[in-house]
Amino acid sequence: AIAYDQVAIVYLLGSCSPSQYVWFNIGSVDTFERNLETAQLEFGIEGENRLPVVYSAESDGSFLLSMLPTVLIVGFLLYTLRRGPTGMGRTGRGMGGLFSVGETTAKVLKDEIDVKFKDVAGCEEAKLEIMEFVNFLKNPKQYQDLGAKIPKGAILTGPPGTGKTLLAKATAGEANVPFITVNGSEFLEMFVGVGPARVRDLFALARKNAPCILFIDEIDAVGRKRGRGNFGGQSEQENTLNQLLVEMDGFNTTTNVVILAGTNRPDILDPALMRPGRFDRQIYIGPPDIKGRASIFKVHLRPLKLESIIDKDNLARKLASLTPGFSGADIANVCNEAALIAARHLSDAINQKHFEQAIERVIGGLEKKTQVLQPEEKKTVAYHEAGHAVAGWFLEHADPLLKVSIIPRGKGLGYAQYLPREQYLYTKEQLLDRMCMTLGGRVSEQIFFGRITTGAQDDLKKVTQSAYAQIVQFGMNEKVGQISFDLPRQGDMVLEKPYSEATARLIDEEVRTLINSAYERTVTLLMEKKAYVEKVALRLLEKEVIDKSDMVELLGPRPFAEKSTYEEFVEGTGSLDEDTSLPEGLKDWNKDREKEKEETTDEQIARQITGGIPF
Ligand code: ADP
Ligand code: ZN
Repeated sequence: AIAYDQVAIVYLLGSCSPSQYVWFNIGSVDTFERNLETAQLEFGIEGENRLPVVYSAESDGSFLLSMLPTVLIVGFLLYTLRRGPTGMGRTGRGMGGLFSVGETTAKVLKDEIDVKFKDVAGCEEAKLEIMEFVNFLKNPKQYQDLGAKIPKGAILTGPPGTGKTLLAKATAGEANVPFITVNGSEFLEMFVGVGPARVRDLFALARKNAPCILFIDEIDAVGRKRGRGNFGGQSEQENTLNQLLVEMDGFNTTTNVVILAGTNRPDILDPALMRPGRFDRQIYIGPPDIKGRASIFKVHLRPLKLESIIDKDNLARKLASLTPGFSGADIANVCNEAALIAARHLSDAINQKHFEQAIERVIGGLEKKTQVLQPEEKKTVAYHEAGHAVAGWFLEHADPLLKVSIIPRGKGLGYAQYLPREQYLYTKEQLLDRMCMTLGGRVSEQIFFGRITTGAQDDLKKVTQSAYAQIVQFGMNEKVGQISFDLPRQGDMVLEKPYSEATARLIDEEVRTLINSAYERTVTLLMEKKAYVEKVALRLLEKEVIDKSDMVELLGPRPFAEKSTYEEFVEGTGSLDEDTSLPEGLKDWNKDREKEKEETTDEQIARQITGGIPF
């Protein structure tokens, strides 16, 4: 047997012709041994004729050889960098050329910060945490008197568009101090040494502007875990991170700089960043819940000109119930779209219809009324969407339907809008119902046309994801057992799975079984309701957009209770709106108490002088 690069070639010698051979990728040890085993079985090699496998470690220097191009390039860059402007200066940016690349690219906002805490909504807990930082800046004594150490920085984590940047900026706005922002990726440049230099420069800038708030967005670009996946010495990113740690350690509580950072990947950050004295607090800002969305809508409805009969609070609640899963940025987007749509129709005020259109647009993308669909395709889309709708109607745990449309939009040919209840725990049965509903589109195509199309790709992706999650993450499969592994995220490099090849095979099999049984279940359901699917599809072809009332007319009321209004959704949670009360210790959080005392005495003196009339 010969192993060459990553391929094993097993020649068969002896009785047969020497030209007989098999080859396969070596892959992991496990696969290699299994393949070798199969090959030998096939060739009928028995007993002592079998190939022994011996593992040994050796190096022939080919690794160094493979690094040679990299070494040469880095060497060249270092050389030109040393030579300074005469080398490459002309192509460098602006006046300073290469000399200025070590300067920070951060932006400093001073008096132009127009954001206050009242502009950030739906994340009250995070706001409280961060108010405390302002309080540290303003009233360190309150904490020091009790012997508490004041935290230096916080990492704001959470999905994009939830208001991390906004919150950091509002903190500066409230504290009335400069706000310095920089993006983590701005430290990463091709040239060696630029990253650390920019970090040094950034912190110098912060010191100069103290007291201030320094915000590093997308800190994961520089803050990735060190010492993984790079050969030979430290990478530029590691050096930059080290410099960042050094600078943070150099700050003390009297420096009066609060360092905030934002990321949506806290899991890949180097743990050293989170040690005490650095970013010792992590503040999670999740997607807003229904009450949070209502408050965010209130913020963004404030500057809009609405029809006079509309009550803004009521509208905010209504819109919140229509926008499950929306982030703060999506909501800001909806409000702006609504205004644009109203303007397009030359309306002099915005009404609820405009908002509904805006929501559809944010969910589904731009409506493409002019996209030409062949009648045959249109029919397929109608039956596909009808399949989803009818399956969902008769599955207890499927989300209530709001609207189905077969007008092509930016993000797909057909589209349906649902009102998922906000739920944090799902049972196996609930997940199964959701899978079946998602499969309803393809099943309907299968039933009515006896053929399937490419239109179900997105559905299948969702179903596959859910099936893997159930088995690999939630321990919901009997054979695989009570285990939980992290599924790789998009963009992750997966070098090895945390489980054996055998488990991987079992998981793959179980995923297939699960999806197949969900598919069968959906086929049975839709065969039984075939006449309904037909009716809905025909209505869709006729009207292009149908809503819940059409469904009720065609199918009768849904056989399960469902919630649909804001009041129903928030029932049993204590109050209609978000709780925005402050704890006692933070009541005066953005006031400078020492200064205030002086001011009041000044005023009193003034009053005495002017005989009680303040001037
Ligand atoms: P992130 O930094 O989390 O990605 P941003 O702070 O950049 O999100 O949010 C983008 C925009 O979305 C903000 O400028 C604001 O208009 C809106 N927005 C996001 N979250 C909120 C919120 N909680 N309250 C009000 N507006 C928000
Ligand atoms: Zn579909």
